[in-house]
Amino acid sequence: MKNKLPISLEFFPPKTEEGAVKLRAARQKLYALQPEFCSVTFGAGGSTQEGTLQAVKEIMAEGCPAAPHLSCIGQTRESIRERLVAYAAAGVQRIVALRGDLPSGYGLGGEFRYASELVAFIRSETGRQFQLEVAAYPEVHPQSKSPDADIAAFIAKVEAGADAGITQYFFNADAYLRYVEELRKRGVSVPVVPGIMPITSSSQLLRFSDACGAEIPRWIRLRLQGFGDDSESIKAFGLDVVTALCERLQAEGAPGIHFYTMNQAAATLEICRRLGR
Ligand code: FAD
Repeated sequence: MKNKLPISLEFFPPKTEEGAVKLRAARQKLYALQPEFCSVTFGAGGSTQEGTLQAVKEIMAEGCPAAPHLSCIGQTRESIRERLVAYAAAGVQRIVALRGDLPSGYGLGGEFRYASELVAFIRSETGRQFQLEVAAYPEVHPQSKSPDADIAAFIAKVEAGADAGITQYFFNADAYLRYVEELRKRGVSVPVVPGIMPITSSSQLLRFSDACGAEIPRWIRLRLQGFGDDSESIKAFGLDVVTALCERLQAEGAPGIHFYTMNQAAATLEICRRLGR
């Protein structure tokens, strides 16, 4: 990345002390990339909600700006208000605002239906105090009625006060480029940062992608399956594929790259090294 394209890094809150130790070690290596910020996911089901703030505090104490994710499904206005107060007290300046997905069995409930309502609520409670990022889906959110409806849902979040989008991961650059082009045609000018998932394991990737609606192109799926449990070949192939994707996105003018690190340093570091960072 000759012009040092801004990058951000996503982590999830570790569930065990061992996981926390590993994450701290991964972060120390990843800080060499000088990320614009690190974000920490928020489990809509409740299991990792406290862990989000804890990890965010650790990252900020290490000298890096941090953004907690905040999902609204199953929450009340009061519970979101409490989170916002806690985030502000911790010195948070940026939030990734989401609807979230409840684990099966939780029903719907809560006082928010869509992320746009959360964004509007945060703006009404706290004005411009937080920079707000929202999710974007170049390959269309799985529950969306149509690509057009999904674009409209993203625009609703921007109109409610979101500053930027971060996409679900994808391997098809054209899906992203067309998505951004469509937004620009409709007068939406906020940055839409591609979310990039390094490929480090084939089973994990296939499992995640089925759940979140990200498409694994047939040729990538077949190549990965062909490697069986040869993890070295999977990693080598993954680095080539994902680096080429990032190179294309950079050449086409992407405003930054958001890495879904999965709490691992090696693949993100190697991709960035190949990109010249
Ligand atoms: P929304 O923008 O509300 O969209 C949800 C669905 O509703 C879409 O199908 C949309 O088209 C539709 N929709 C929106 N508004 C309307 C409307 N007015 N009328 C009809 N339909 C509408 N999940 C977590 O639980 N925790 C996390 O930390 C987390 N981090 C994420 C980070 C990123 C960058 C991304 C891309 C996703 C993340 N997710 C996370 C997953 C996300 O919560 C799910 O994809 C969820 O299903 C949708 O969240 P959203 O904020 O995009 O919802």
